[in-house]
Amino acid sequence: PRLIDDEEGGVLFLSTPASSSSSSGYGYASFEKQRQRLPVYKYRTAILYLVETHGTTIVVGETGSGKTTQIPQYLKEAGWADGGRLIACTQPRRLAVQAVASRVAEEMGVKLGEEVGYTIRFEDATSTGTLIKFLTDGVLLREMMDDPLLTKYSVIMVDEAHERSISTDILLGLLKKIQRRRPELRLIISSATIEAKSMSAFFQTRKRRGLQGAEPALAMEPAILSVEGRGFNVQIHYVEDPVSDYIQAAVSTVLLIHDKEPFGDILVFLTGQDDIEAAVKLLTEEARDNRKSSSGLIVLPLYSGLSRAEQELIFSPTPRGKRKVVISTNIAETSLTLEGIVYVIDSGFSKQRFYNPISDIENLVVAPISKASARQRAGRAGRVRPGKCYRLYTEEYFVNEMAAEGIPEIQRSNLVSCIIQLKALGIDNILGFDWPASPSPESMIRALEVLYSLGVLDGDAKLTAPLGFQVAEIPLDPMISKMILSSDQLGCSEEVLTIAAVLSIQSIWVSSRGIQKELDEAKLRFAAAEGDHVTFLNVCKGFLQSGKSSQWCHRNYINYHAMKKVVDIRAQLRRIAQRLGVTLKSCDNDMQVVRKAVATGFFANACRLEPFSHDGMYKTVRTSQEVHIHPSSVLFRVNPKWVVYHSIVSTDRQYMRNVATIEPSWLREVAPHFYRQDGPDPLLR
Ligand code: ADP
Ligand code: MG
Repeated sequence: PRLIDDEEGGVLFLSTPASSSSSSGYGYASFEKQRQRLPVYKYRTAILYLVETHGTTIVVGETGSGKTTQIPQYLKEAGWADGGRLIACTQPRRLAVQAVASRVAEEMGVKLGEEVGYTIRFEDATSTGTLIKFLTDGVLLREMMDDPLLTKYSVIMVDEAHERSISTDILLGLLKKIQRRRPELRLIISSATIEAKSMSAFFQTRKRRGLQGAEPALAMEPAILSVEGRGFNVQIHYVEDPVSDYIQAAVSTVLLIHDKEPFGDILVFLTGQDDIEAAVKLLTEEARDNRKSSSGLIVLPLYSGLSRAEQELIFSPTPRGKRKVVISTNIAETSLTLEGIVYVIDSGFSKQRFYNPISDIENLVVAPISKASARQRAGRAGRVRPGKCYRLYTEEYFVNEMAAEGIPEIQRSNLVSCIIQLKALGIDNILGFDWPASPSPESMIRALEVLYSLGVLDGDAKLTAPLGFQVAEIPLDPMISKMILSSDQLGCSEEVLTIAAVLSIQSIWVSSRGIQKELDEAKLRFAAAEGDHVTFLNVCKGFLQSGKSSQWCHRNYINYHAMKKVVDIRAQLRRIAQRLGVTLKSCDNDMQVVRKAVATGFFANACRLEPFSHDGMYKTVRTSQEVHIHPSSVLFRVNPKWVVYHSIVSTDRQYMRNVATIEPSWLREVAPHFYRQDGPDPLLR
């Protein structure tokens, strides 16, 4: 272990490699001391008592107070994992799952994957000896398909409930149902902000009916426990005039702090990989051009999709005489605690999902955060001593314009995946489902329509057999699952599995900032006239022919880690497909059938080039929304007449990402209901 002095003069042990599973009592004792200093420690007995006596316990406590890392350990120490039972703790984000699991394993002095394990989609680090399991809420939902009452768990802690992710909300609705059937199951809902009242009302069990077998002493009302934080005061600074470029403003503020303020690490909240890497680059250039202003700065990005090694750097202690600058998405808002942060720079934005049922388009947009988020972000500066938060927006804006709370994700998402999961769990009355927050009827109808057209639901909105059940079985977006299943008949499953694997990761290219020209040239080596999907096939072929070489990736501006992941995910999808009876077959370069398989899954995303458009404007066939091909696509500026897209991102315009050319006649062939002829034929405009 590496040692650093902490503020209070004690010694912190950080970054013990998990493999050195320290049976050395020395390291363990030190963790013990750290654990006892956390605010939740004072509530240990209270928490255990409430969990013992209440079906549901709601724990509210400031970020960093120890909820995620400590409560599962307390439960284990109190015997909740005895007798072959498991303690689960869910997180909305995969990166947080990995990070907290490895921290808890470290604190317990065990090897990650044994007593303490984690599961995220396509990655299972648990074993038969696992007692505490961290997982995404999405993965727990999937587990319900095999084990509807989640019988292997004694306690389920739904963490970060304030985030109101779509999977968290569905999970809460389902857990409430499970509890009626399995009163011995204990739930802990933990959250960084107080929405405890509404959560508590949601978990109120009004009727005692159906609770036979419940332990008589078990309280029906949820218990609420508030963990008193020990955050230090944070001074808030606003800009005087609105900033036009928050990346540049963030970079200048970092340099200003570094120049004027005493030591202490800086946490910058930007929105996503692109702007984070842009800021990293600007700061790195500054370091090169102007050594004085930036000497001693260690600049680190933090976003999902980072490799484990990169994640570890974030958590490792800052060397003496240096200042760490972590540039992060809102994952550092409440999911992860970074030690040593004294300064926070808040751009006021985050990437959020928005769905419009009228246009039937869901996209990821950079949007203003809420006051609740802004307060959380500021709070990150007061962990170790009084800190400062620099808001890159005006006070007037904060007071008068920022929304008080965010909108739950379920009310701004496409519900296709959500509905198919509920259907697969036998919840037939989706409209009557007990949601913590109800999605709009329009979104539900849109989703039901798409699922019906995919052949996944029948006229009575029941899953079809076998297709509907098979689609639900594959842990992917139903459109991708349908594409995989249709490849069976088309004889191109090997190719389509590769495409599905690539579509389930963020990007296989290295980030384009500053190397746009080189990247475009590299892409040309693989570019296919049929579009991005076939281009992916070319890249994957090249990667395999190179012997999975990292140099090859480097030469071609391809992200080596992403490619390794693609290979791994593909292998897993291949096993699932095989189990579902898909014949594994290659179409030997007949790209027509591959495109047809893509169209069979993604027909709902069909677009047509506007006949007299000069700037490559397309309209969606169904709702006539204006969209353009994203500059990252190999079809950018090629503008074929008919395409289907995988997803939309919107900045100044709505851009289609991952685009494939299709024949318009396929649409009615693969989705006769969706493109039925009533009124003017949309395909003949
Ligand atoms: P909460 O869930 O209440 O936000 P956590 O349980 O995540 O709090 O964190 C409790 C404390 O554990 C943090 O304040 C921090 O000191 C420490 N900690 C958590 N994760 C790590 C890590 N990966 N590396 C070092 N310390 C960590
Ligand atoms: Mg936490």
